[in-house]
Amino acid sequence: EAKQTRQHFFSFDAELEGRIRRRRLLEQALPRVIHARQLHLAYQPIIASSTGALLGAEVLCRWHHDELGPVPPDEFIPLAEQLGLIGALGSLVIQRAAQQCAEWRAHQPDLCLSVNLSPLQFRQPSLCSELLQAVQAWQLPPAALELEITESVLMENADEIETNLRQLLAAGFPLAIDDFGTGYCSLAYLPRLHVSNLKLDRSFIRELESNPVTTAIVRSVIGLAHEIGMQITAEGVETEVQRDWLIAAGCQRLQGYLFSQPLPAEAFATRFLGKR
Ligand code: C2E
Ligand code: CA
Ligand code: CA
Ligand code: CA
Repeated sequence: EAKQTRQHFFSFDAELEGRIRRRRLLEQALPRVIHARQLHLAYQPIIASSTGALLGAEVLCRWHHDELGPVPPDEFIPLAEQLGLIGALGSLVIQRAAQQCAEWRAHQPDLCLSVNLSPLQFRQPSLCSELLQAVQAWQLPPAALELEITESVLMENADEIETNLRQLLAAGFPLAIDDFGTGYCSLAYLPRLHVSNLKLDRSFIRELESNPVTTAIVRSVIGLAHEIGMQITAEGVETEVQRDWLIAAGCQRLQGYLFSQPLPAEAFATRFLGKR
């Protein structure tokens, strides 16, 4: 028994050490990688449920570390936030997304790209002017860039955040609530938030086939959103059963592995914009 315990501790130590080493490597590399603009963007299509047509894509950040391989954004985005680098990372994403959107609009003029914003970016007074500069540099209307924000941003009462939200709305950037249903945003708040699109979190979509309560919730959220003039996007659609149920329930926009994984720009253009 004593031996087992020792072994247990040994593997715990080794695991912890591995995690610390990994974290140190990532911490060292991230500032350089952002500075050298070595992060890449992947694009996941968003599909109109009624026609199957391409509406746009969500922009997702990718990092390939020389030694560690691909690092998931769920790991490096929080790290960038902790290291005070999220502003720089976010700027890079915004500028690239604007450039890419302009290029692709030559093939599909109404294409819209959705960019994820960290709550910390909302604390920076320069957010709106930065976004305006990015779209103006490529002669894009602000409507070409949808901004995905989390419920927590909308529920916070900080002055900087409210000012940013007001400026972004006035400038004409469409706002989407990301991962809707996972936070604490009450449905009663929705009409006041001036958000044009709700992205229903993947956890709801996953349970559509198995949990009748979830099914009822999703149905009523879709109904409510329509009544107050909001769009609904279902995230994480993986099966035809989920797709067909969502279409029947009136969900207009679909996104998930059933249609495509997030793709590098070239692969996205070849597959969805008919570029060769
Ligand atoms: P998110 O904004 O909720 O993005 C959707 C995530 O779900 C992406 O993971 C996407 O690859 C994944 N996904 C899409 N369809 C499916 C599906 O059918 N099944 C499953 N299982 N997963 C699906 P990813 O790319 O790993 O990104 C994770 C999170 O990292 C994002 O969640 C977002 O919160 C954050 N993130 C990514 N890029 C950025 C960025 O440029 N800025 C900021 N602030 N956050 C980012
Ligand atoms: Ca998102
Ligand atoms: Ca999401
Ligand atoms: Ca998320």
